[in-house]
Amino acid sequence: MSHTNIDIKKIRKDFPILSRKVNGKPLVYLDNAATSQTPQQVIDVIVDYYQNYNANIHRGVHSLSQEATDAYEEAREKIRTHFNAKHKEEIIFTSGTTHGINLVANGFSNLLKKGDEVLVSALEHHSNIVPWQMLCEKSGAKLKVIPMTPQGELDKLAFAELFSENTKLVFVNHVSNALGTVNPIQEIIAKAREVGAAVLIDGAQAAPHIKADVQALDVDFYVVSAHKICGPTGVGVLYGKKEWLEKLPPYQGGGEMIDQVSFEKTTYAGLPHKFEAGTPNICGGIAFGAALDYMNAIGFEAIAEYEYELLKYATQQLLEIEGLKIYGTSADKTAVISFNIEGIHPYDIGTIVDKLGVAVRTGHHCAQPIMDYFKIPGTVRASFSFYNTKEEVDVLVESVKKAKMMLS
Ligand SMILES: *Cc1c(COP(=O)(O)O)cnc(C)c1O
Repeated sequence: MSHTNIDIKKIRKDFPILSRKVNGKPLVYLDNAATSQTPQQVIDVIVDYYQNYNANIHRGVHSLSQEATDAYEEAREKIRTHFNAKHKEEIIFTSGTTHGINLVANGFSNLLKKGDEVLVSALEHHSNIVPWQMLCEKSGAKLKVIPMTPQGELDKLAFAELFSENTKLVFVNHVSNALGTVNPIQEIIAKAREVGAAVLIDGAQAAPHIKADVQALDVDFYVVSAHKICGPTGVGVLYGKKEWLEKLPPYQGGGEMIDQVSFEKTTYAGLPHKFEAGTPNICGGIAFGAALDYMNAIGFEAIAEYEYELLKYATQQLLEIEGLKIYGTSADKTAVISFNIEGIHPYDIGTIVDKLGVAVRTGHHCAQPIMDYFKIPGTVRASFSFYNTKEEVDVLVESVKKAKMMLS
């Protein structure tokens, strides 16, 4: 893989955790779809914040508060640039993707009525199903599901027919965390435009691999978590078109989100503060900005190219194991391989490969409807990042072979 622009030796040195051992073996971390590892550059930013300018933001006149506010707002600007949002106030800091989705779902509960329809895809994470079910219960709107095909793709013929003038909202993930499928969000957004529906794209799983341009996509809402893009846990971003964010009511009440407060009436602060009640994850926001700097310095094109090579190689090698089946075989997928071996429970494979230092995820991956579709309890999921190597793929394959031998 020397033709790619990834300097893998240098990159791996940036991630201290990658040189540790697990159960006496070198760690092979292949659970990147659950959370990514953190480079030293981002860890340094976190340490620097607590060592040198930890303070509450936006309120203080003192210097520390000013420094923290400036760094936090600089991070917001970095995130705006990264996703190419038009306005800085369209970037709302959240605690993560789940928070962003709930904020929007809650905001729509008074805007929908009986007879309205909400579309979700069959490939969703639970965090992009349950909030909409709650919204539909509250508003009387109907939840409809875009079905999937055996390849783990959205059924394009079916989805065109599901749109009607009753469709008010559409929710789809950009990339499925369980299968890695890249969904045709451009087509979905175009279809939604025809009927005047708003679209929320869950970008949690796409963000580590694909740089989304929210203006080019013409998407209404796009949500991500920092911890899947080399940042810390507990922070994320909701992008929303200004017109929508102005229309939606605040999600939580508290400090920071108000303009004037009296017991008779409270007026709300302008964007983005209307949606940012309370003291935010200041350090997390700043570190999120640093994580994007880190990834952009490597470059998303180089990352995509390198990960595609890893995916191709791992797919070939794994398929040589007899009885192994891969779920999610779309031509357009990120570096995620969900698989099972005939007659063996995924959990047992996960447990044995962990003894060999290999971290994979087993289970339903918060996407039970997908598992139901394939009539399986779950899968083993190996998900790759730009800091993984071909040698690590070899360790995975050898470990899975050993597990198969021990279990069959
Ligand atoms: C991880 C993930 C989420 C949830 O993200 P949180 O950080 O747990 O809020 C939602 N959707 C997809 C597709 C994900 O991969």
